[in-house]
Amino acid sequence: MNIGSHLSASKGYLHMAKEAVSIGANTFQFFTRNPRGGSAKKIDENDIQKFLEYTSEHGFAPILAHAPYTLNACSADEKVRDFAFTAMSDDLLRMEYTPNQMYNFHPGSHVGQGAEKGIELIAGLLNRVLTPQMTTTVLLETMAGKGSEIGRSFEELREIIDKTELSDKLGVCLDTCHVYDAGYDIVNDLDGVLEKFDKVLGLGRLKAIHLNDTKNPFESHKDRHEKIGEGHLGLDAVTRIINHPALKDLPFFLETPNDVDGYAREIALLKSLREK
Ligand code: FE
Ligand code: FE
Ligand code: ZN
Repeated sequence: MNIGSHLSASKGYLHMAKEAVSIGANTFQFFTRNPRGGSAKKIDENDIQKFLEYTSEHGFAPILAHAPYTLNACSADEKVRDFAFTAMSDDLLRMEYTPNQMYNFHPGSHVGQGAEKGIELIAGLLNRVLTPQMTTTVLLETMAGKGSEIGRSFEELREIIDKTELSDKLGVCLDTCHVYDAGYDIVNDLDGVLEKFDKVLGLGRLKAIHLNDTKNPFESHKDRHEKIGEGHLGLDAVTRIINHPALKDLPFFLETPNDVDGYAREIALLKSLREK
């Protein structure tokens, strides 16, 4: 199975790839820069070269870069929107050092301006940063609907995609904690949720899964991740998710509250739950 966890980027790309292998993973997720913003570390081309060799030798699945949480494409504050533009365009340039990978971001919070305005601003940013030449797939993450978050429904993501000119560069990352929190019942009706996803977005857009349990009950809109099997999704639902024919070949990324050893244990557990 294609599985990885969130890892610290502080020691570079090769280090992350080796750490992934050491915990039984064949991919990983990392922050492109400090999750609360700030500037990114300079690209070390030697590190990148070694990373590319190592990951091709070890048959890695695509890796997933995550934009900082503070990136809000639809803030009411122009300075915050400017940061979103600067950070994302810089991230996407850096991503081309590792071609054909994925970049995930939270669409944003409209902070009272309304979802329509928010969606317009998000698509507006994408229309400035996406280029026909880029090899990276940019993923919109499904959100829990905390506060004024955009992306609480498949329809909102659809609208962003429809308003984006180079929409062939876009995909979706489904976060299992977030969608359950948002009111998609993947515990009792996984098939129904995936049918809805297919109808609204098309399953072809689904490029990655954030595999998390949740601390809160259905439709809480809280976004608090829990360890695999220890939350309101539970191990049976997680087992159905990782084995579902529409999902099983996608890369799964753990964002559970764990240190690296905890991730290793969850990866071993999940592999043991895979149907042969
Ligand atoms: Fe996220
Ligand atoms: Fe997530
Ligand atoms: Zn989350």
